[in-house]
Amino acid sequence: MTTREETVPAGRVRDGRVQEGRGQEAAVRPRTAVLGTGEVAWDAAVVSADDLGLGRGDGCFETLRVLGGTPPRLLHLAAHLDRFERSARALDLPAPDRAAWTALAEEICTDLGEGQEAALRLLLTRGTAGAGPTGLATLRPVAAEIVGQRATGVAVVTLDRGTAVDAHRAAPWLLGGVKTLSYAVNTAALREAARRGAQDVLFTTPAGEVLEGPTATALWFADGGFRTVPAGATGILAGTTQRAVFAGARAAGHPADERVATVPDLHRADALWLVSSVRGAVEVTSLDGRALPRRPDLTPSVRAWCEG
Ligand code: PLP
Repeated sequence: MTTREETVPAGRVRDGRVQEGRGQEAAVRPRTAVLGTGEVAWDAAVVSADDLGLGRGDGCFETLRVLGGTPPRLLHLAAHLDRFERSARALDLPAPDRAAWTALAEEICTDLGEGQEAALRLLLTRGTAGAGPTGLATLRPVAAEIVGQRATGVAVVTLDRGTAVDAHRAAPWLLGGVKTLSYAVNTAALREAARRGAQDVLFTTPAGEVLEGPTATALWFADGGFRTVPAGATGILAGTTQRAVFAGARAAGHPADERVATVPDLHRADALWLVSSVRGAVEVTSLDGRALPRRPDLTPSVRAWCEG
């Protein structure tokens, strides 16, 4: 069985599948750092049992992809810090100190060598009543499962999230678009996908409009251009990767816009990808058991735009 922390060298065949991705010949060393303290042992106990991030999922986080080199590239760090700030504001948490978070992130990425890639996570919790918020950064290898999906694509099922397409318009307490620590619904959806023989999910409204994946933005190519779901009233997370792809696509002369679409619209599209920071872009091979058209000619460009 493949575990989430296991890494696979690029180009190797594993379970009969070619693992595409950057070389990970030297294993990425897991690292942990605490805001205000710096790096600690990767498996150190850094959170109090009373921390409200643990007990209530009360806090926010960011995950980004780091490409090793001199210096390592922390992809779209500024956009992630912007969203981190927006999330903290929505949760009435103190605004993250950008300089301190940048220094912490750079500190634990320093040793990442050429050809390596890793997932960097920044976490801010409400902490404990006495001590206040907790800030953490972790660096981990990219899961082999994710590296494999870049080569194979993913089968996706749609699951109803139960909220109307404009449910978040006047309801900020629902925390739409906020990257909170409360991802139990998202991981439950992924387990439901596995039960249905798929690898990922697209959430929909009860009326069948497409929203987002549990950890990714939906991006499709239709009517001669790239399309995605609008953030805002839909409550979806505004993706940093989708934003980078749209910037790259527009610079290359492709139309790119936001639109509300239904599941049948996606079946009729020329291609559908799930895009997110660490994974980049993965092709969706089927939706609810029906094979989807694909544009493998576009995927390398989409991936290059993801890295921006
Ligand atoms: N939507 C959700 C719910 C997510 O959790 C994520 C990323 O984890 C995304 C979209 C994609 O966002 P990004 O491209 O910034 O990683």
